[in-house]
Amino acid sequence: MTVAPSPLAGTDPEVAALLSAEEDRQRRVARLIPSENYVSPAVLAATGSVFTNKYSEGYPGRRYYEGQQNVDPLETLAAGRARALFGAEHANVQPYSGSPANLAVYLAFLQPGETVLGMSLPMGGHLTHGWDVSATGRWFRPVRYGVRRDTGRIDLDEVRSVALAERPKVIFCGGTAVPRTIDFAGFAAIAAEVGAVLVADIAHIAGLVAGGAHPSPVPHADVVTTTTHKTLRGPRGAMILSRSEHAKALDRAVFPGLQGGPHNATTAAIAVALTEAARPSFRDYAHAVVANAAALADGLLARGYDLVSGGTDNHLILLDLTSRGVSGKVAAQALDRAGIETNYNTVPYDPRTPFDPSGLRIGTPAVTTRGLGVADMDLLAGWIDRAVAAAGTGDAATLDHVAKEVADLMAEHPVP
Ligand SMILES: *Cc1c(COP(=O)(O)O)cnc(C)c1O
Repeated sequence: MTVAPSPLAGTDPEVAALLSAEEDRQRRVARLIPSENYVSPAVLAATGSVFTNKYSEGYPGRRYYEGQQNVDPLETLAAGRARALFGAEHANVQPYSGSPANLAVYLAFLQPGETVLGMSLPMGGHLTHGWDVSATGRWFRPVRYGVRRDTGRIDLDEVRSVALAERPKVIFCGGTAVPRTIDFAGFAAIAAEVGAVLVADIAHIAGLVAGGAHPSPVPHADVVTTTTHKTLRGPRGAMILSRSEHAKALDRAVFPGLQGGPHNATTAAIAVALTEAARPSFRDYAHAVVANAAALADGLLARGYDLVSGGTDNHLILLDLTSRGVSGKVAAQALDRAGIETNYNTVPYDPRTPFDPSGLRIGTPAVTTRGLGVADMDLLAGWIDRAVAAAGTGDAATLDHVAKEVADLMAEHPVP
């Protein structure tokens, strides 16, 4: 089954072999990393297309290179689909990825040294929301909010009091390890009170928003940034949506502020992903992702696991393995051997280090694309439990046995 495209095999057998092995790996394992997915063959075809051969610095109708007869309508189509899908006044589809999209927001609204309020990284925020090691934390003045120790949830009273004390120019909401619904209206009220620009970073949940399975930030936030490759199920890329009043500043920040030529093959694939995401079947997908995550959380709770915030509202679950006596890293490595792909993650107030934290982050976007349903989630919870127990005792035979059972289930659910 794993036939690599022959031009690649002929030119570069080494890369062809790695590609073939990766296709096989993605087919065999249960991929539970919540930021990952499987794109459709149509998205893949657009990604690997001759649009990659074309330079087009600028925006449609205002380019610095000739030969834009097809790229101009392509980018116009992608941006129009983005506006329509999310109900936004403006869309820029050129950011190379989620991190550059967020950096463009800083460039549009902040001078170096000015204050940005974001969620702390170990509490579930993203590096680009002002964490120390990121340019956003080094070149600007970051202040932070987290989650409550007792609930594992964001406390808007805390966000408001930090905002009132620190007077940020920009406030970020959204994150990478937030298992609960983001209260965009609540954040918007705080941003309005302190005169800050509210940025909703929906990188993780964009597909849920598009599919109606998470409230939309568009009516509340001045700017919405998102990747296109997580729940939205498109190519690796990003978009910035905004109100018209911010369009010029954001467009200028992306080009010429930060980037040169847009990646036109990615733009093509974003356009395809957006048209897929506008279909009724995508609404079903988004709701199935959430239903599967809820079922997986129930299966883990029933087996005595501690989940940050006690469960999930979205596609993502954060397990605190402290009571299991294994670290997140040891568990993630054991699960990988057992054919279950996850990532270790800090949990709020984690006493361990980020390189060997207490938590494990899992999610259902990719397995839901494979067609797994609620009934399969209890199987997954059972396998996770066996593998975590085996991690504690170093029982490799059990891990290999689980890997076979996982592969049998996944074989019933073909990759798109
Ligand atoms: C994934 C993610 C990003 C960054 O996206 P990259 O494409 O990896 O640069 C930004 N913000 C949030 C909340 C994310 O989850």
